[in-house]
Amino acid sequence: MWVKQIFGTSPFTLKHGKTDAASLEPAARHRRIDYPRPDGVLTFDRLSSVFLSNTTHEEDQPVHLQVKDMDLQKRSELGIYAGPSTRYCPADVYEWLEKDGEDVFAINAQNCVHCKTCDIKDPNQNINWVPPQGGEGPVYPNM
Ligand code: SF4
Repeated sequence: MWVKQIFGTSPFTLKHGKTDAASLEPAARHRRIDYPRPDGVLTFDRLSSVFLSNTTHEEDQPVHLQVKDMDLQKRSELGIYAGPSTRYCPADVYEWLEKDGEDVFAINAQNCVHCKTCDIKDPNQNINWVPPQGGEGPVYPNM
């Protein structure tokens, strides 16, 4: 991108070689990163930013974040990859909660800002993003 910006053209294209989803590796191969909490001055929590985006959805609209196989999500997305959706989603839509001793995948679809990252990045391609009813979501022109 910067080569193009500076020189007006680029003589080469950098290829990734694989999809974003395929680039994720099992959590066991990596050390856990403890991210510092937002300080409210330079860094902010995700839900504050979602609030600023004026994101709105009708509560009872058709599901626009579809998980094809919930068992696979639990077995692989949580069990092998340590729940990356809870970190890559910029709007805190996904949570793994414990309910009656079971891990439950919670989807707070009303916060979605429609970046489509989950559709692209889910390691099993198990999440399908579809456009929300009536174009609902963030009010970008007001930002
Ligand atoms: S589309 Fe973006 S904001 Fe919406 S759930 Fe997926 S990752 Fe989160």
